[in-house]
Amino acid sequence: MVKTILDGNLEKIQELQGPVQLATIQWVNRCFSLELRFKIISARRTAQHQNRLWQQGRDSNGKIIDISAVVTYLDGYTKKSKHQDGLAVDVLALGVSYEDIAEVAKEFSIMQPFTKKPFIDLHHFDLNSALPAVRIIDPALRMKSLQRRLRNTVDSKQKERIAREISRLEKRLER
Ligand SMILES: [Zn+2]
Repeated sequence: MVKTILDGNLEKIQELQGPVQLATIQWVNRCFSLELRFKIISARRTAQHQNRLWQQGRDSNGKIIDISAVVTYLDGYTKKSKHQDGLAVDVLALGVSYEDIAEVAKEFSIMQPFTKKPFIDLHHFDLNSALPAVRIIDPALRMKSLQRRLRNTVDSKQKERIAREISRLEKRLER
């Protein structure tokens, strides 16, 4: 049973690019402290591994023959996956919702990009915009930068998102 971050997940996190490892650890830790447990089932992949996944549901010419078996549109060579750069993880939720896991991920700017048709992959999280360590470690610094972003952003949707992040952080700082 996966109880702590050390039960299997740390090994996978070590495959990731250095700068995103801490954000990933923080995300997993925060989730686990909220009883949102999951297992990282895939992190870094070779081109060969990515290509093997791409072949699923396709014939030898790369033509899709079974759409339900397709797990990726990235062949690993002409189109690279973020997994190949150590900037993505696939997770398996353990009796909890992917939505809740994704909500916590947002705090660390970890994104769940494939939540809508035509391509849904709820397991996949992108780490390429994950927060650098300094902004995770120092909430005051993070608050300053969020407030700066709020001032400088014109897009109203973006503004809303930042304001939500600020109120989440405020709540955390109060604790
Ligand atoms: Zn993935």
